[in-house]
Amino acid sequence: LALPTRAPPSYLRLTLRPFSLRAMASHIVGYPRMGPKRELKFALESFWDGKSSAEELQKVAADLRSSIWRQMSEAGIKYIPSNTFSYYDQMLDNTAMLGAVPPRYGWNGGEIGFDVYFSMARGNASVPAMEMTKWFDTNYHYIVPELGPDVKFSYASHKAVDEYKEAKALGVDSVPVLIGPVSYLLLSKPAKGVEKSFSLLSLIGKILPIYKEVVAELKAAGATWIQFDEPTLVLDLESHQLQAFTHAYSELESSLSGLNVLIETYFADVPVETYKTLTSLKAVTGFGFDLVRGTKTLDLIKSGFPSDKYLFAGVVDGRNIWANDLASSLSTLQALEGIVGKEKVVVSTSCSLLHTAVDLVNETKLDKELKSWLAFAAQKIVEVNALAKALVGQKDEAFFASNATAHASRKSSPRVTNEAVQKAAAALRGSDHRRATNVSARLDAQQKKLNLPILPTTTIGSFPQTMDLRRVRREYKAKKISETDYVNAIKEEINKVVKLQEVLDIDVLVHGEPERNDMVEYFGEQLSGFAFTVNGWVQSYGSRCVKPPIIFGDVSRPKAMTVFWSSMAQSMTKRPMKGMLTGPVTILNWSFVRNDQPRHETCYQIALAIKDEVEDLERAGITVIQIDEAALREGLPLRKSEQSFYLDWAVHSFRITNCGVKDTTQIHTHMCYSNFNDIIHSIINMDADVITIENSRSDEKLLSVFREGVKYGAGIGPGVYDIHSPRIPSTEEVADRINKMLAVLESNILWVNPDCGLKTRKYTEVQPALSNMVAAAKLIRTQL
Ligand code: GLN
Ligand code: ZN
Repeated sequence: LALPTRAPPSYLRLTLRPFSLRAMASHIVGYPRMGPKRELKFALESFWDGKSSAEELQKVAADLRSSIWRQMSEAGIKYIPSNTFSYYDQMLDNTAMLGAVPPRYGWNGGEIGFDVYFSMARGNASVPAMEMTKWFDTNYHYIVPELGPDVKFSYASHKAVDEYKEAKALGVDSVPVLIGPVSYLLLSKPAKGVEKSFSLLSLIGKILPIYKEVVAELKAAGATWIQFDEPTLVLDLESHQLQAFTHAYSELESSLSGLNVLIETYFADVPVETYKTLTSLKAVTGFGFDLVRGTKTLDLIKSGFPSDKYLFAGVVDGRNIWANDLASSLSTLQALEGIVGKEKVVVSTSCSLLHTAVDLVNETKLDKELKSWLAFAAQKIVEVNALAKALVGQKDEAFFASNATAHASRKSSPRVTNEAVQKAAAALRGSDHRRATNVSARLDAQQKKLNLPILPTTTIGSFPQTMDLRRVRREYKAKKISETDYVNAIKEEINKVVKLQEVLDIDVLVHGEPERNDMVEYFGEQLSGFAFTVNGWVQSYGSRCVKPPIIFGDVSRPKAMTVFWSSMAQSMTKRPMKGMLTGPVTILNWSFVRNDQPRHETCYQIALAIKDEVEDLERAGITVIQIDEAALREGLPLRKSEQSFYLDWAVHSFRITNCGVKDTTQIHTHMCYSNFNDIIHSIINMDADVITIENSRSDEKLLSVFREGVKYGAGIGPGVYDIHSPRIPSTEEVADRINKMLAVLESNILWVNPDCGLKTRKYTEVQPALSNMVAAAKLIRTQL
């Protein structure tokens, strides 16, 4: 039967339509595993606590999987993924599949069970966990494989095949998803001891036989498609790395014959050279591209696409919570059809939906209008399918019409646009907003006023958040206690923290942040343009989820946010009390950001709001103000060519917040653990008076920058002990650290402080640790 591909003339349409349908094709790259109400989180934690059995955990997991598959098949999705579920992490699953268990876990072969699996993920009483690191530029963290030259790979987890069969038994012929062999290796790290001499890619010949076994089993079980996620293809690869792809997939070619193979990329467009290599792989049937973040992908495809292959077009954003602009996506898809051919375009998501919230249905607190602008994972599936249907002439007019209405309302809503804010942000361009005086002159002026000892001591902001404290905040939020009771309770807490710091003899105090649940949420709740979900959780790692605020409109600050608490705290002590703010870049990077204007525009708006707060604090007599940019590096684009643009506007946004303060007002900033060495010049360019940096797990790395001659004239406090561990550092140990820093940094710029906030620690740990820290600083002062 030859089907017409063009719409028939309108007079024929009614009668012909049912016969003119082309098969529509829709695909989902991956789906959140946590469940709409974080069911997996609670099941995991209960299992880890020994409160429930392995069978109970497996039951929750199986129910989640089947409900996801059912949801996708009811929506009409053609290519439904399997093996995108995970008890902890998909990279760890792949490590288990390959039997690449580091020797310290004492695994003796056989199928890997929960015991070994969770020991790798979380450590156990006798061995620490494997390292975890950020998954590309998302807030998801994966478990980094540790590979050495003598790893004995073996097929040790049949999860991919089991999940395929499980879906099949439920009537779903799924597309099993594996991390592709080259990305797997490129995302690994060399095991301890072989760091220097070892090429991870040299292991390719050893892992491919395992992949072949898995593929053979999947084929035997009836699989017709397989998806290899190769996200490293979007990075700047060297030519030998690129060659590894050609090598790996030609090596796999014969095993893959009879299967349709999809190679999925995401998070950016692929570089031109990579595109050429990728699209000339013979073993491959389809290529998945991110058309949301991959702004050049369309041009790449126009430049040539293999005639007999499928294009999986990722037009529905997996990284955000906005409803798709269906009309615009449809025209993109139609344009793509014009290039690669009809029947060759498969509508897809830009990446796994793992990085968005799960289901809008559970949002009871968002108003109707705002909800109409949003789509979480469950809604995105429906969008993908609606687009696929529209592409083959079965457009759901009502669905498209309500989507268009929602878009129009978002565009014209007075809740979104604030003329004054737009104007103020637009006026920022052209100036780079620097303080009038250079940093050394400012430090002198500040020292005259603050009169601090050499090697001044401070902390990063938060003090332990006890159960009682959390309960007080919860009860106030639920209106169970009065405002007066709440203020008194917080005041008492601040007083306790201030007194403790005075007893410890810390030089620059903090109020302890007892009024804050989260450093971004606290500000978002007080700024206009932000909305909060009740269930918009996104997996961060393992069972941990975050609930990013939604920035939907122009950001402004109706009134002061921290002045009340900071002034109260300052009134309790003669020592300087640091005002404590979260910086614009961090607020941006830890939120779902609007997609109707560039990210930097939104960041500038937040910067202006924080600037007002900084100036209000200064007016209220606060002389030291810390503006945390914990997540500055997190927003760094994956591709080198885009990094300097980001760093420029991010650093500019920070400077905007404090360019207007007096010389005598000391601006601090704080950054969490990350690799600073390659962005040190941007950090200097932030022009803060003092920066505190998480460092204690990588002393050498940070200090090497200064050893190599980078000039740093501002105050700097590399953390002297790790706050992520309950361990209490001794005075000698801290003193040792300080001395190491003094070997490369001038004593007049060095500060002494912990790595990060103390929120998650106990007072029984914090008190002795800080006491030793202060003792160490005092000891060294006498030796200078
Ligand atoms: N001021 C914050 C705190 O101390 C900083 C937290 C962070 O860097 N993540 O908790
Ligand atoms: Zn930190």
